[in-house]
Parts: sequence; C-alpha cells; structure tokens
Amino acid sequence: MTRNYTVSRRLLLGAGVKATFLLPTTLIAGLAQAATPGAEPPRHAPAHKASRPPPRLVVLDPGHGGKDPGAIGVSGTYEKHVALATAFELKRQLEASGHYRVELTRARDVFIPLEHRVGIAEQHRAMLFVSMHADALTDPRVRGASIYTLGAHASDAQTRELARRENSADRFAGPDFQGTSPEVAQILASLVQHETRVGSARLAHDLVGALGPSLPLLPNPARHAGFVVLKAADIPSVLVEMGFMSNRQDEAALRRGQHQMQIAQAMKRAVDAYFAAADQGLRVAG
Ligand SMILES: [Zn+2]
Repeated sequence: MTRNYTVSRRLLLGAGVKATFLLPTTLIAGLAQAATPGAEPPRHAPAHKASRPPPRLVVLDPGHGGKDPGAIGVSGTYEKHVALATAFELKRQLEASGHYRVELTRARDVFIPLEHRVGIAEQHRAMLFVSMHADALTDPRVRGASIYTLGAHASDAQTRELARRENSADRFAGPDFQGTSPEVAQILASLVQHETRVGSARLAHDLVGALGPSLPLLPNPARHAGFVVLKAADIPSVLVEMGFMSNRQDEAALRRGQHQMQIAQAMKRAVDAYFAAADQGLRVAG
C-alpha cells in the first residue's frame, strides 16, 4: 500500500498500523483487547473472578452537540439533547449489567468533529461503536427507528440525504478543519476490512431484531451510506436513528424519559445478542 495520499497523517497511520492487527480472530469478542499490546487491564475485575471475561468496551456516540444542535423538532426539541440523554441511559444499563465498560464521545453539550469521534473509539480500542441520533427528514410523515452501516453507495435516496446532512455537521467545525475529500473517503472505505463490515452488519441485524418488537421501525430499517462517523477501519460501527425530529409523534416520544429507557433497553438487548453470538464463535462463520 502506498502512503502518498492526501489524507491526514493520523488517519493514514492509524489505518495502516491497525491493518497489521486485522487477523480474523481479532474481532472475536474478548480477544481483541487481550491481543493488543498495552491494552488496559480491566478496571473492575475482582481477583476472585479472574476466569470471568473482562468487561467489553463499548463507545457510545451521542450525535451533534455544542454549536451543532442537530435536527430541531417540530416543537423545538434539539436532537443533541435527546441523543445525549438516551446515550446516558444506555450507558447506565450496559454498565449495570457488569458485562461492559462504556465510554461516551461526549458527556456534555460540546461540539466534536466527526473524525474525532472515530478517533475516540480508536483510542479506547472499542469493541463496538454506536452513534445515536434522531434526525429530520423532509417528509414529516415518516417516523420510526432505523439503523445504518457504512456503504460506498447509499441504499436509497432518503439515506443518501440523511448521510449528507450528518456529514455536514462538520460545517460547524470552522475553517481550520479539513473535511474528508471524496478521494480520502474512498481510500478509507477501502480500508474497512471484511470482518468489520460483517460485525457491523450483524450488530445492525441484532438492533433491528431488538428494536422491532417495542418501537415503530422504518420500512427496510437496516440501511447503509457513506457516514463519516462510521469509518473506523477495525471497529464494528452502526448509527441508530432512534426516530425523527421531523415527525411530531416521534419527537414527543423521544422527549420522554420512559421512551428513552425503552430504546436503551432494546439497544442493550442487541449488544447482548451481538456478544453472545461472538462468544459462540458465530462471528467467525460470519
Ligand atoms: Zn444526527
């Protein structure tokens, strides 16, 4: 692989170095952290439970923040607040189980560029990356949750528009920030390994299965497009639209703590299912 692309040094080196670790087994839950030199020992594992697997590190990414409010609902709700509140609830539930450690890309109302969010997941050597949103669509009648994975081409026009809006969040980053050019996006997409895509698709599938019974879903709820925030080369990543601010019913529901708890419960079930399958070795068969 040549390295004379016009891509940021951090991203290129990051992707190149990571590629040397991409043996198929590294995506088996539990092994990735153990196999990584310098990986932190689990913080909470008591000595008498040494045989228990260390907590899995999950990075949750509440969308938008700070000067970027995200979508603004029909009655004035900011997407950034709904995303953060629901991410806090999911973090609480995941950590209460004792099986996970959770890091947030932001724990307060602050702006973070999209590529930094990916960088945070890489720094923590996350085993999963879940970006949480509640955007707006042009059609106010459309409601329901949907799940997105990275794809070179958008699965449909609605998703293309959604990715365009999500990726344009970096317009808030100011003139110093160099956005991802189409060439760089293509290079990065090509670095996304098969195992990562398989893991992302499995998690998306698990999320559809978990959210479906308790929440309305869009038709064909598992979709894909070129979301910048999903471009970690070696971390299974999904973006969840928990509903749409452009729909009055969704907006009202997303404001309620009870509904946020329900979404978090469903998402936790999906994370549990993802790692349960990994434990059984299904991830290898993919
Ligand atoms: Zn969003």
